[in-house]
Amino acid sequence: MSPSIYTHETIYIPPREEESAPLEVAIGCSWGQCTFCDFARDAFRILPRDKILKNIEGLSRLFPNKERVFFLGENAFVLPADALLDLFAQVRKRMPKVETFAMYARADDVLSKNPAELEALRSAGLDALHIGVESGSDSILAERKKGLTAQQMLEAFRLLEIAGIDYHLTVVLGLGGKDYSRLHAIETARLLNKTHPRSIWCLKLAIFEGTPLSQECKAGSFDPMAPSEVLAELRLLLQNLTVTNCIFEDTTVLDTYTLQGNLPEQKDLLLRAIDELLAAHDGL
Ligand code: SF4
Repeated sequence: MSPSIYTHETIYIPPREEESAPLEVAIGCSWGQCTFCDFARDAFRILPRDKILKNIEGLSRLFPNKERVFFLGENAFVLPADALLDLFAQVRKRMPKVETFAMYARADDVLSKNPAELEALRSAGLDALHIGVESGSDSILAERKKGLTAQQMLEAFRLLEIAGIDYHLTVVLGLGGKDYSRLHAIETARLLNKTHPRSIWCLKLAIFEGTPLSQECKAGSFDPMAPSEVLAELRLLLQNLTVTNCIFEDTTVLDTYTLQGNLPEQKDLLLRAIDELLAAHDGL
């Protein structure tokens, strides 16, 4: 990667976007308050348009044949609709093979746009948003300072479905700690069952030094879960899921494995794989 078009040496894009050309348009997250999050350490800023145009120029040399561009920024969809439409057009000028765009979003970035704007973005090539649900439990969301309720997220997903924009959802396993593991799994399944995501990506909670959650751990007010407990939570979540036409994956199983399958077709297969891992790693 050319260092001149990326602020950091390492860039993060979702597994489903590995074939996309990554274009940096923003740094950090406009919310930045989730107590477990390490991604929001950068002060949030949208890059000046001139800098983004230079990035597009660099991107076009690095990836002249790419057909899809992923906008970097922890919630790049916070950009106003007219700014995004302008940037889509600028990308297409330099990279005429590009057909679709995707990016990270918070649910409130969707809610801040009206249906006509969402429709215009879809027509201009916005194909998918990657959104962190984290939990379906309002109490866990509030405790971890996500700044959104389950109902707000459901409304955002409904608007995306009307506009015809796909969405991929992320869940953070272990986010309720030992005390609320069952609540987290059941309530998250309940929320997901009301949605139609193209994929659900589960990630085990990591406690990052310097975050408010790491302070809670040190103070004893948050009890993090052992890897096998997180795996049992994953099983409970999956067992309760009724979503269809959805790829389900966890890339952090026991900090070692990846589980992936299509729902509902491979649900039983995934559950059996989890049971085998739980039996083999009892007490880990
Ligand atoms: S919305 Fe996402 S990126 Fe922003 S602070 Fe919360 S977890 Fe981090």
